[in-house]
Amino acid sequence: MDGSQPPMLRVSPQLRCPICGYGDWCMVAPDGKTAICPRTAEGAIKQAGAAGWFHIVHPDHVTPHPAPEFEPQHTAKVDFKWLSDIRRERAEPRLHDLARKLGVSVDALRCLKVGYNDYDQTFTFPERDGQGNIIGILLRYPTGPKKRIRGSKSGLSYADQWDNGSGSVLLVEGPSDTAALMTLGCNAIGRPSNRGGYAHLADLLSDFPDDRNIIVLGDNDCKEDGFWPGKDGAIQTASEVSKRLERTVYWALPPDGVKDARAWLNEHGGDNPTSMRDCFLEGLQLQAITPPPVIRSFVPFQEPISLGSYRQEMLKRRLLSLDRPGIYLDRSMTGSGKSAIDYRVVLNLFGRTEEVA
Ligand SMILES: [Zn+2]
Repeated sequence: MDGSQPPMLRVSPQLRCPICGYGDWCMVAPDGKTAICPRTAEGAIKQAGAAGWFHIVHPDHVTPHPAPEFEPQHTAKVDFKWLSDIRRERAEPRLHDLARKLGVSVDALRCLKVGYNDYDQTFTFPERDGQGNIIGILLRYPTGPKKRIRGSKSGLSYADQWDNGSGSVLLVEGPSDTAALMTLGCNAIGRPSNRGGYAHLADLLSDFPDDRNIIVLGDNDCKEDGFWPGKDGAIQTASEVSKRLERTVYWALPPDGVKDARAWLNEHGGDNPTSMRDCFLEGLQLQAITPPPVIRSFVPFQEPISLGSYRQEMLKRRLLSLDRPGIYLDRSMTGSGKSAIDYRVVLNLFGRTEEVA
């Protein structure tokens, strides 16, 4: 802070937060171009200490929760699935144009259920929850900025058949990059922004096999002042998903220093993009985020048992605990044989169970 910037103003019912729309808690710069919102992490540039999330206010930003007095009390609920279906039909004749412009396959756009709105000539991208329901629609204006249809919730962009049954899944920013990765033949899920969508991701990936990697791919969008929303968001997303799924989740940046997956595809994809998939994946430098320890307590014994069976049980559970993340807590009393069990576990690790006395 160089001291020349005027201090931020506390929001009020007259001067609402441009990010969340509420009239308390948040701060906004006198010129309205930046804000600190404690309610909204999505789209933030960085965390501003305990005050909240620092945002740069986009001129076209739509406040997601409009102030109550401007919103009729009995707003009909929007049927986003219905809306999305109508718009998909309109999009069909234009999908080739959009695919060429983005440098992605028509099929990827079709699978993401891209739509078109004749009225304001925008392509629309449905966003889904972890169960596949369409919960909102993202608009893409020809000039670039993103908005959501009123009443939308932010969600994930993914195809019904997002998982081809092998390899990693990549969690990337936004639908265009999701389409780019699908064009390369990867399993891809689009995140709503650099941060957010954690609960939907955890829901969608709850059964994703342990022997296949979950990789959060961040944008290579390092700013001049050192802020790196794509990378910071990827790390935070990996941590949040890792915590929720209790498994290791990786994060990475796009290979070869390009800005994002679509830039890589446009540069290296060539005529047969699926043949370049492994090149892309091998270029990723994976960073692992492991979940915090979870304490799993065992149900105590109901019946008195012999010391021998107790020790057998201890051995069994110690061995069972070996490959699991977390803390193994043994509160057996003195003389129950904890050290003897330690010794037997070590022997067992070397495959010498026959020496157990
Ligand atoms: Zn706010």
